[in-house]
Amino acid sequence: MLILLDIDGVMVPANSWKKPEFHDDGFPLFSVKSVRALQKIISETNAKVLLTTSHKSKYSLPKWRNIFKSRGISVNGIALLTKNDENLNRKDEILNWYQSKHKSNEHFVIIDDDKLLNSLPDSIKDYLVLTSSSVGLTDELADNAISILKQGKFDYA
Ligand SMILES: [Mg+2]
Repeated sequence: MLILLDIDGVMVPANSWKKPEFHDDGFPLFSVKSVRALQKIISETNAKVLLTTSHKSKYSLPKWRNIFKSRGISVNGIALLTKNDENLNRKDEILNWYQSKHKSNEHFVIIDDDKLLNSLPDSIKDYLVLTSSSVGLTDELADNAISILKQGKFDYA
């Protein structure tokens, strides 16, 4: 199982009126609520994280693992979406992944605050959990993500 995870507006709520607070590692702190919610999804599903955030190519995988670890999240596995050299929007990046990298029997959920993802084809949109940018990932949305991951719509048998 895979969590296609965005960070800004998901783990780091966007407050236009407030500067983000940074951890010693130079990356913004995650919201406490979002940390709890993401950890719940990981604990209940054993899903791995596939980072879709625009920050993905800034750091190596070990550095990303540390960024999550020092914010209280133990990831089972972490990977990065292909570097966005063509400056695609998030929707096209995810469509590309779905068409070229997604294994047909692998359950996934997309957690993102980019409203453009509402225009994904219905067959993919079923796996979208859209957050509010200023709130980020919540416990309730975590439950939605868990049920999407467990539903296993790709079990055709
Ligand atoms: Mg975002």
